[in-house]
Amino acid sequence: MDEIAAKVLVIGGGPAGYVCAIRAGQLGLETVLVEQAEFGGTCLNVGCIPSKALIHVADAFHAAQGHAGSGAFGLSVGSASLDFAKTIAWKDSIVGRLTGGVKSLLKKSSVRIVEGRATIEDGKTCIVSTSRGDMRIRAEHLVLATGSEPAALSALPFGGSVLSSTDVLTLTAVPQHLVVVGAGYIGLELGTAFAKMGAQVTVVEAAERILPAWDEELTRPVAKRLGSLGVEVRTANFAQGLTDDGSTLTVKHVNGDVSLLAADNILVAVGRKPRTQGFGLERLDLAFDGPFVAIDRRCATSMRHVWAIGDLTGEPMLAHRAMAQGKLVAEVIAGQRREFDHRAIATICFTDPEIVTVGLLPEQAKASNVSVATARFPFAANGRALTQGDELGFIRVVTRADNDLVLGIQAVGAGVSELAAGFALALEMGATVEDIAGTIHAHPTRSEAFQEAALGASGYALHI
Ligand code: FAD
Ligand code: NAD
Repeated sequence: MDEIAAKVLVIGGGPAGYVCAIRAGQLGLETVLVEQAEFGGTCLNVGCIPSKALIHVADAFHAAQGHAGSGAFGLSVGSASLDFAKTIAWKDSIVGRLTGGVKSLLKKSSVRIVEGRATIEDGKTCIVSTSRGDMRIRAEHLVLATGSEPAALSALPFGGSVLSSTDVLTLTAVPQHLVVVGAGYIGLELGTAFAKMGAQVTVVEAAERILPAWDEELTRPVAKRLGSLGVEVRTANFAQGLTDDGSTLTVKHVNGDVSLLAADNILVAVGRKPRTQGFGLERLDLAFDGPFVAIDRRCATSMRHVWAIGDLTGEPMLAHRAMAQGKLVAEVIAGQRREFDHRAIATICFTDPEIVTVGLLPEQAKASNVSVATARFPFAANGRALTQGDELGFIRVVTRADNDLVLGIQAVGAGVSELAAGFALALEMGATVEDIAGTIHAHPTRSEAFQEAALGASGYALHI
């Protein structure tokens, strides 16, 4: 068997693992990265990137249909049509460009790439089965970055018409009737996209309302838009399983009522689970935090020189968190003093309209035993939103009432994802209301609603 040795061995080439390997290479650490599938992991291949490509096409198609139908803005176009096979080919070309780019970046940083499935032997060794036979890799530091996979419902296993988020991204035609189980990130991002591309969409959600991780004020504009898109939302309902012919989903309301939903496809999007099985992880003496590998603030596991990063280590399961942890671990291994700070990780839901949150929601802030104030500014009073013909939503700031420190920032509205950087920077820098209110925000932009919300928190919003 071939054997190689390195300072750092990274298992998994998703956002956590590939960023860790690039940074370790930049820092002069001899690094090997093992990946069993395509570089870029879930995010680039079957997650963030392909889903956003589909959402973009769906938005463009829906807007074109709107112009064809109503001549909004005095603009009218011929009837819009969608060649879904071309949409998928375009989406795949974007994925191909980005995954190829990751490989080039790894090579540029002198990372040794091993393509194959790693099986852990001990805390310093793994065996990789490659197309040219097995290879043993030894390293001083082992970085676990094996990510996560879709969680299935036992009554509704993936297969046939029951699709995971990975499967739904490879459909060759827009289904006539798509049932989505789970009104979280994936269910609503992709459910909305398919509705805009012409599917009749029904969403089944176990909780009392959609997007239950966020407060109702924030998610109400999304619920409203789903209604205007004709998406049927059934909250407080649980998916029970398929009828014998496989064409109909049985759902049960919390009050006991049972109903049947006919569907061409059923997307099950009820969360993701960390990838911990089938590659020898149990041979390590690792502590777990529920299903996730437990780590400290340096991403160290309970075993010396074994590190874990990304979705494998828990919520929030987001690509930017994974990448930040990857960079941090490489720097810690190189001897730098680093600690991970969760405070300013933005979450973005690419629904219509989009939702952004950074820091604490109002209820979370109140639970921290300080006196809390909130102020919000609606896009209905924002010039840019009006010129874009979409005034749904608002920006909200959550502050400490005693010293005006900003504890959280939330927004819901068209295009607000691009405001996430400014929000995160404000929290990261420990901004007060006065810092935001005193920053001149360019006109006409949606970001002015951020300044106005901060002015509102100071008691004198100017444009409302
Ligand atoms: P992964 O990306 O899962 O990568 C793990 C890698 O390890 C995989 O490539 C896998 O093949 C490899 N691997 C596993 N075991 C082995 C082994 N034994 N040997 C070799 N290789 C192995 N996040 C966002 O921040 N923004 C978004 O908009 C967003 N959209 C999403 C949309 C969808 C539909 C989905 C499913 C997810 C989305 N996410 C989004 C989440 C994001 O994709 C993940 O948080 C991110 O990919 C986690 O990175 P990771 O490196 O920890 O794991
Ligand atoms: P999620 O946790 O966001 O939503 C799952 C939803 O399913 C919840 O609302 C839950 O109440 C519901 N649910 C659970 N069991 C159910 C049942 N039996 N019947 C009906 N509803 C049920 O999970 P997801 O949408 O699968 O996304 C997984 C993860 O992927 C997210 O947590 C996130 O970390 C990541 N992701 C992020 C983005 C983004 O950043 N924009 C996009 C997609 C995915």
